[in-house]
Amino acid sequence: ATILGIESSCDETAVALVTTERAIIAQRIASQIEEHAPYGGVVPEIAARAHAEKLAPMIADVMAEADLGLADIDAIAATAGPGLIGGVMVGLVSGKALAMAADKPLIAINHLEGHALSPRLADETLQFPYALLLVSGGHCQILQVDGVGQYRRLATTIDDALGEAFDKSAKILGLGYPGGPALEKLALSGDAKAVPLPRPLLGSKEPHFSFAGLKSAVVRAKDSGNYADADIAASFQQAAIDCLLDRLTVSLGNTAPLPALVVAGGVAANTAIRTALEGFASARDMRFTAPPMALCTDNAAMIAWAGAERFGSGQSDPLDVSARPRWPLDPDAEPVRGAGA
Ligand code: ATP
Ligand code: MG
Ligand code: FE
Repeated sequence: ATILGIESSCDETAVALVTTERAIIAQRIASQIEEHAPYGGVVPEIAARAHAEKLAPMIADVMAEADLGLADIDAIAATAGPGLIGGVMVGLVSGKALAMAADKPLIAINHLEGHALSPRLADETLQFPYALLLVSGGHCQILQVDGVGQYRRLATTIDDALGEAFDKSAKILGLGYPGGPALEKLALSGDAKAVPLPRPLLGSKEPHFSFAGLKSAVVRAKDSGNYADADIAASFQQAAIDCLLDRLTVSLGNTAPLPALVVAGGVAANTAIRTALEGFASARDMRFTAPPMALCTDNAAMIAWAGAERFGSGQSDPLDVSARPRWPLDPDAEPVRGAGA
């Protein structure tokens, strides 16, 4: 079966055609970095307008490249949340219109489920269950993934997401937006031991994350004038890695042994983090999987793939399904002090 995927929850407009046999037939991603760069972050109104302008021609391009018509598509998968509501609505309404016009099922996808299942698109041997470290611009969670739609949250952040911490630290170092990739690059020429930075919650018996204090320490290090930017970047990245491994140790100790550790979300594109996680997993006899770089940051192939996984088990949604600004993967997770979903 062939699934058309649409993503518009943040600042990437994306469209992809993916089959249930894991072939990415065609895809497009339009970043809005230029539109938002003057403001140092994503402006919701600008994002919604840009999605509205770009989406229809991108859908036409992808269909043309694949030489397919609407009649050849088996289902339409569109992100329905969580994210910036204006942008989510643009993509979801487009998906609904196509589903109605083509008389094909609509599958409303949780963007986080797109990230969570993306490793299975690239790696057909990855089976459930697995431990998932979901590290993105808006989230930092450890989840036990038991199947499609079956997520148990083991840990979350009590303040900032990891991608947010990368972006804020990058901004402090004058690296622009989005800063994660730029900070990683700068860190390559720095000394990770040069700047004493805190590891928030290290050793805590609670499994949760905290990154706000780390970011504040980056501000102080920069303001002190005592350190080179590259050393601050490298030390920040090492502190983040130490926190990730410590928090994973506690989380995984709270659950039955899982055969695989998987990382997903935009920060999963970070090579130093991937390498550290690989070492962590191999020391525990866990298999390690990370999606290819291009599937880590926002894209529509992961949305189409989540649709393919749901289509395969006969699931679809009514055409009046709502866009959701907030939509936790594990609705039963206990609220955590100061934390988002
Ligand atoms: P969410 O998925 O939580 O809704 P989002 O969709 O905005 O948030 P993603 O696109 O999944 O987030 O990830 C973007 C984040 O990943 C940004 O914070 C960006 O800085 C970060 N990121 C991307 N590449 C890297 C990298 N190489 N190193 C560190 N961070 C990175
Ligand atoms: Mg983005
Ligand atoms: Fe994302």
